[in-house]
Amino acid sequence: MIPFLDLKQINNQYKDELISACKRVIESGWYILGEEVEKFEKEFASYCGTDFCIGVNSGLDALTLIMRGYKELGVFEEGDEIIVPANTYIASILAITENRLKPVLIEPDLRTYLIDSEQIENKITDKTKAIMVVHLYGQTCEMEPISEIAKNYNLKIIEDSAQAHGAFYKGKRAGNLGDASGFSFYPGKNLGALGDGGAVTTNDKELAEILRALRNYGSQKKYENLYKGVNSRLDEIQAAMLRVKLKYLDDEIEKRRKIAEFYLENIKNPRIVLPFVRKKEEHVWHLFVIRTENRDKLQRYLYDRGIQTMIHYPIPPHKQKAYQEWNNIFLPVTEKIHREVLSIPIYGSLSLDKVKYIVDAINRF
Ligand SMILES: *Cc1c(COP(=O)(O)O)cnc(C)c1O
Repeated sequence: MIPFLDLKQINNQYKDELISACKRVIESGWYILGEEVEKFEKEFASYCGTDFCIGVNSGLDALTLIMRGYKELGVFEEGDEIIVPANTYIASILAITENRLKPVLIEPDLRTYLIDSEQIENKITDKTKAIMVVHLYGQTCEMEPISEIAKNYNLKIIEDSAQAHGAFYKGKRAGNLGDASGFSFYPGKNLGALGDGGAVTTNDKELAEILRALRNYGSQKKYENLYKGVNSRLDEIQAAMLRVKLKYLDDEIEKRRKIAEFYLENIKNPRIVLPFVRKKEEHVWHLFVIRTENRDKLQRYLYDRGIQTMIHYPIPPHKQKAYQEWNNIFLPVTEKIHREVLSIPIYGSLSLDKVKYIVDAINRF
């Protein structure tokens, strides 16, 4: 079986370095908010090109705390509206509703699967406070028109960069394309920890300070609580793992690009729609997503040939039981995407032989 993602193989590439980083943490005797987190925050901020990075416990927490931070700053208040693409992963939406803000779902562009900037303006009301852009599958959103709208209506731009570590938009990296950005280091992401982890990047000093307090019980000084905070810290041990893997991230991205290029050039099947690439130097290929009307058949067909695939995602947020209040909304583009997409294996250590085998199988479908 060709696994969809082989985490063991991926982390094995760095095994010796990971073990010695692990040892360093064990021997330090300091396990929460210490040197490793501080160094990782500096290194990741510098990688993204931002002034600040705040390590937290997960990607969901990163996004939730950004919203919370803006509420503490008086920028958002309960009931305000946040524009968000309807086809995103549920976490983007949960971060909004958790803060008693209102997600305003908009249809994505069927070609890119990204937020469709042309649909944003007619959803803006006097309650709208922000646009959440999701750089889905590893490609950044078309930021220029979005930034223009945000400027005209005085809206914040929040990036969900959980799938886009290292991705570019016109020379700037994801994480540095809006007012604040949430990253996930879930093990399967392009930059993955060996457990949960997340971070916020921003150039906003005030927001950064609030987030540093919020993640740690709302406290800047031990036992003094400025806010009703939470416990959402990046562990020292995960920060140490991430520091090792960050050094190789560009390498991993480059290998994914080569595989993606091979897929794009060699998959030739009129039944299958290949992903649209705005600029190949900008995409980091967290996922390689193809689309077909016979998606379930294709998935079974590939499985029978030893190729594991995944669906990102089978049920859109507005059709989830958790959001019953939206179940009757009709979003045809989003629903079509969820019916038709299929993600095929892509990761740096996937061998060319396997990539060729996958192409060949898809072409015969
Ligand atoms: C993975 C992911 C998240 C959530 O990250 P966790 O670390 O799993 O909480 C949020 N948004 C998107 C688009 C993701 O892919």
